[in-house]
Amino acid sequence: MSTLRQIAFYGKGGIGKSTTSQNTLAAMAHYFGKKILIVGCDPKADSTRLILHEKAQCTIMQLASEAGSVEDLELDDVCKPGAAEFNPDDTSITEGYIMCTESGGPEPGVGCAGRGVITAINFLEEEGAYKEELDFVSYDVLGDVVCGGFAMPIREGKAQEIYIVMSGEMMAMYAANNISKGILKYANTGGVRLAGLICNARMTDKEYDLAKNLAEQIGTHLIHFVPRSNHVQRAELRRMTVVEFAEHTDQAYEYKELARKIIANDLKVIPKPLEMDDLEALLMAFGLEDEVEADAIGKKASA
Ligand code: ADP
Ligand code: MG
Repeated sequence: MSTLRQIAFYGKGGIGKSTTSQNTLAAMAHYFGKKILIVGCDPKADSTRLILHEKAQCTIMQLASEAGSVEDLELDDVCKPGAAEFNPDDTSITEGYIMCTESGGPEPGVGCAGRGVITAINFLEEEGAYKEELDFVSYDVLGDVVCGGFAMPIREGKAQEIYIVMSGEMMAMYAANNISKGILKYANTGGVRLAGLICNARMTDKEYDLAKNLAEQIGTHLIHFVPRSNHVQRAELRRMTVVEFAEHTDQAYEYKELARKIIANDLKVIPKPLEMDDLEALLMAFGLEDEVEADAIGKKASA
């Protein structure tokens, strides 16, 4: 019998949560035989499209409003098997599979967008979506601010292991630090822990060092540095993961590595978020150092 691990990917909007999580989860199912349930918690509802090969999955909130209420829904209406080799019925290829669901939210600008997350998770639990045979439940959560419904997976102790997707850009680091504050707030009551930073490279100056340093200061580790690659876009256009579309590329290997590390990870900490001043000092220390180097190279070049 497997022990269910509930993990979550948090991070600023557009940083690469949905891309990184789907690719990594695909690798976990495909190479390591893991049985996974994805719970998309972003009103954008694009946490599962690369696994389903679909434009966007119908959300629990959408289906509930069409049916009248969430009580009128069945699990099969909202929970779909991943395409092809990620389908639990297709046991010929691998024993790993991925089930997909999206919480959705109200129309933009109407009501609390986080409400969908709460409704969805409660529904999934009541309807028995958290099956015993599952190895992982993975939440993909919009997390610029850890407020209201978006904090729900953390606050209620649904997600126990949080991975923060970030980059060397200031706002991504700022969001990562903020999310750590959110985790700290609920760590003692809910048991949630920070399990690592994932740097999704933006090619900023000294990005690896900066990400590693931030991770250490917060009290965690940089679990993986995912390079930028156009294979991501090529696969995305086909609504596929890189792992599926371009299996033999370096980028697919990076996601496989991250998958392996998450499966093996047992570093789960209560984070120590930085004060704003310290965060800025960290950014300046690495940024300025690099400018000095760049200047020196420039001078040499023009000499
Ligand atoms: P989020 O879920 O955090 O809002 P997404 O996963 O949707 O962010 O990513 C935003 C965009 O960034 C996507 O369109 C994707 O193509 C691109 N992207 C993400 N990670 C990478 C990467 N490692 N290399 C190249 N492009 C990436
Ligand atoms: Mg997303």
